[in-house]
Amino acid sequence: MILVMLGAQGTGKGTVAKLLSKETSFPHISTGDMLREIASKGTDFGNEVKSLIDNGIFISDEMMAKILADRLNQSDAKEGAILDGFPRNLEQAKILDDILKERNEKVDLVVNLITPREELIERIEGRRICSNPTCKADFNLVLNPPKEDGICDKCHSPLKQRDDDSNREAIERRLATYDEKTKPVVDFYAKRGIVTTQEISKNINRFAAEAVMDILKLIEK
Ligand code: AMP
Repeated sequence: MILVMLGAQGTGKGTVAKLLSKETSFPHISTGDMLREIASKGTDFGNEVKSLIDNGIFISDEMMAKILADRLNQSDAKEGAILDGFPRNLEQAKILDDILKERNEKVDLVVNLITPREELIERIEGRRICSNPTCKADFNLVLNPPKEDGICDKCHSPLKQRDDDSNREAIERRLATYDEKTKPVVDFYAKRGIVTTQEISKNINRFAAEAVMDILKLIEK
């Protein structure tokens, strides 16, 4: 079962994908997380990736295809996966079809998350992630604040903000790129009749839980 999460940055793809991963046996595969891990290594390649991410610019389709194919080959993804951040343009949607065809699989369900645009920027700027790489719990200063300022509720490590989330220009660029490059991917899958659209507004925890219930019903069908 291959699930694809689509939605602009800040809609709650990661939150919904993590909840779904808990409820199913499928790993949550976030290309953004994988790239941030590469960027944190401090190698020449890592620094190059970091500079692209920090400026809200896409990594090349060829590179992404390789990263994704390698990840899907890991044993935990044998039965399927929840893809968050890939595909991000039509070219990647076709690449994904090719990768899955080789495995006798296809995209089964696409979850399209929508949030009113005026809420997105506030949400993106409010995002905080646990700095402990084995925890990575996420919080939001507006929607889901930690109990203690700047500290993870789960493992008590300090929280941090993604560099690309503190750069207003990069945020605007990412949202514009979403409209231009990623929205057409929703139509690409809609033509196959496999898209479910869920609105995640204001109360992210309630809406995310409701979305997950709806999605689980569709998966079980
Ligand atoms: P995300 O965590 O999904 O918001 O991704 C953070 C950044 O990683 C994006 O702004 C891009 O620079 C890069 N990125 C993540 N996924 C992809 C992808 N599928 N193709 C190209 N760049 C990506």
